[in-house]
Amino acid sequence: MHIGTTGQRNLLLVPIIKNETLKNTNMLLRHTSSEVIERKALTINPAKTCQPIGAMYAALGVRGCLPHSHGSQGCCSYHRSALTRHYKEPVMASTSSFTEGTSVFGGQANMLQAIETIFSVYDPDIVAVHTTCLSETIGDDLNQILQKARENGIVPKGKHVLHCHTPSYVGSHVTGYSNMVMGLVSYFAQNTGIPNYQVNLISGWVEPCDMREIKRIAKKLQSNTIMFPDTSGILDGPLTGKFEMHPKGGATIPELISAGDAKFTIGLGQFATEEAAKKLEYKCKVKYDITDIPIGLQATDRFITMLSRYANVKVPQSLTNERGRLIDVIADMQKYFYGKRVALFGDPDWLIPLTEFLVMLEMKPVYIVSGTPGKAFDIRMKDILGEKVPEAKFKNGEVADMFLLHQWIKQEKVDLLIGNTYGKYIARDEDIPFVRFGFPIMDRIGHSYFPTVGYHGGIRILEKILSVLMDRTDRDAPEAKFELVM
Ligand code: SF4
Repeated sequence: MHIGTTGQRNLLLVPIIKNETLKNTNMLLRHTSSEVIERKALTINPAKTCQPIGAMYAALGVRGCLPHSHGSQGCCSYHRSALTRHYKEPVMASTSSFTEGTSVFGGQANMLQAIETIFSVYDPDIVAVHTTCLSETIGDDLNQILQKARENGIVPKGKHVLHCHTPSYVGSHVTGYSNMVMGLVSYFAQNTGIPNYQVNLISGWVEPCDMREIKRIAKKLQSNTIMFPDTSGILDGPLTGKFEMHPKGGATIPELISAGDAKFTIGLGQFATEEAAKKLEYKCKVKYDITDIPIGLQATDRFITMLSRYANVKVPQSLTNERGRLIDVIADMQKYFYGKRVALFGDPDWLIPLTEFLVMLEMKPVYIVSGTPGKAFDIRMKDILGEKVPEAKFKNGEVADMFLLHQWIKQEKVDLLIGNTYGKYIARDEDIPFVRFGFPIMDRIGHSYFPTVGYHGGIRILEKILSVLMDRTDRDAPEAKFELVM
């Protein structure tokens, strides 16, 4: 506070300014009002990001694959840095480096030059091209451009170039992920007519450690499975002192090809995987089913039951014991969860099972937003919340943004906020305990290493929620009620 030379009059004003204005100036989102005005064409602080970021992440889940951004350098830099900041690993990707001239004459020349340079300098097995707003607006015909590259011999023998469309003015990063997975299926999966009796697992957008955990569960079931995309071993690799341009993790080309001979496909997360599963059925006649990402007790139960049924295997006692441990923690700590009001934001594929899990804990998920469009969100949320939390408000799509979530919170406060790093502004202004979950998390670590899927992951979620709730209880407790044992 600057009092300066204005003297006595301002000194008298200090207490008033302190109470009202000063508090407001410390609030970064102080202009958010509680009054909600219906909006059609304006998004404020979106609860989503660019389509190409999802395409890039999915492409990184294939061994020897270099994501390529067909657009300007700025897009590629942003997408790489978004992934690098979250995964704390250097994310490799190339770009067609559009200039003003490219914007007028199209990106074919840049694309052909890029493919030649990429294979001669970086030697990947696959180049996975995704578009950007600019190349989509120009209308570059990637089918034709890549065909020309193959005919001109720019793509070396045994190497692959595939593509998907990711215009960022529709959908979200989840749509981009879905489009790239579909691109992988379209390009690689083959039905040779010789069944391999495997079950394909198409992973939704989860952390590398989650993908590793899903594979561990599948292995415990002794099921014959492959999984793609799979970023474990690529975006959570060990520090060895030696740089590897193409780490040894991820789904392999033979695995992707073999997906076409599988007996069944399970997609984990409707928004990120259903289109690819459909494509695989259409192309190779492999039937599919979709279940939620196994977050929380019920979704993990459903995943394990589904996999054991389609792989025709029994659930081992060791997995039943893992389940029992999760239930034990819930039983021990239930009183801390009961009745707590929660606001959540992020991607629909993890919001749906997480909301279901919170309801099972007898918490009250009252406000939920997701920037990713799709009717299934509304249907699932109504189903999960309808009877149990009738007062809940939920919305997805363009105007389901962080601003709206904040306005709802201002109308009636919550006890807990769950979402990515961008939630920290609301958490700070409204003084709400905050659990970081989803993408991106740029200001903490741990998300890449400690899974939140499966029964073990369920315990991790409970631990994270309990920690912030108990910290709040400790912080707010008067001396007489400050407990040592909780
Ligand atoms: S919104 Fe479009 S132009 Fe902007 S970074 Fe994303 S892809 Fe590039």
